[in-house]
Amino acid sequence: MRIGIDLGGTKTEGIVLNPAGCELLRTRYPTPQAEGYSAILSTIVSLVHELERSVDENCTVGIGTPGAISLADGSLRNSNTVCLIGKPIVADLARELGRPIRMENDANCFALSEAIDGAGRGYETVFGVIMGTGVGGGIIHQEKLIPGRLHISGEWGHNRLESDGPPCYCGRRGCVETFLSGPGLAADYVRRGGSSNATAEDAIQLARSGDEIAEQAVRAFLKRFGLALATVINILDPHVIVLGGGLSNVDRLYSEGCDQVARHVFCDAFDTPIRKNKNGDSAGVRGAAQLWLAAETP
Ligand SMILES: [Zn+2]
Repeated sequence: MRIGIDLGGTKTEGIVLNPAGCELLRTRYPTPQAEGYSAILSTIVSLVHELERSVDENCTVGIGTPGAISLADGSLRNSNTVCLIGKPIVADLARELGRPIRMENDANCFALSEAIDGAGRGYETVFGVIMGTGVGGGIIHQEKLIPGRLHISGEWGHNRLESDGPPCYCGRRGCVETFLSGPGLAADYVRRGGSSNATAEDAIQLARSGDEIAEQAVRAFLKRFGLALATVINILDPHVIVLGGGLSNVDRLYSEGCDQVARHVFCDAFDTPIRKNKNGDSAGVRGAAQLWLAAETP
């Protein structure tokens, strides 16, 4: 059986999938961020042991977490759980658990889950997109993750969209993420004169009720979505695109957003499906478990 762990900034959640991909168990603990790195390691190790005791079997372990995983030593970069940055978490967990483990960022886990048994099921190449607090993505071909040579494949969130756009945490300006994330949409609404403490959800709700500034911000968001996603489609030409993260709930992405993509794709009959995810909040933790195939043993 396969254990998947979703290591987040506030919670650490674990599930067990049986070989058919059915979830047998789920447990969560708070992530002891304040207590530091070794406390987080211990939480993961106890969680794995607890789940294994419950199913009375040794399992493979896959972990999904926000941030980028370093090529060199399996440490984390850009994690929102700051005490994890630069720590060799993959090697440390493998030693503590006495088996190899696999770890990928949450966007790759999301994409894998949706490709295997979500909205991308049955499609050869799946581009899974996260638009939430940040913007990320993962590429799956024939149910296998394509990590890329530098382990950055799918990271369209840091393609430059506008050269004079807002600064991004990555050190560049005008990245896709600065416009297509929740904070990015909210900031654009504020820049247009909207109320300064509005969230992306507020802007979407206000646009729905006819607020003109919010409507302008949402229209600009849909236009940028089209431009940014078309750049990916012209290179990858995936068979389906699956959207996840909080902003995947914006219904207009699947109608007007799709039309905006079509304007920029190098094809006069663009009909690639753009779908909302099926596995919802479980996609990350399911994808983490699915980093190991059902037949593999640790
Ligand atoms: Zn960036």
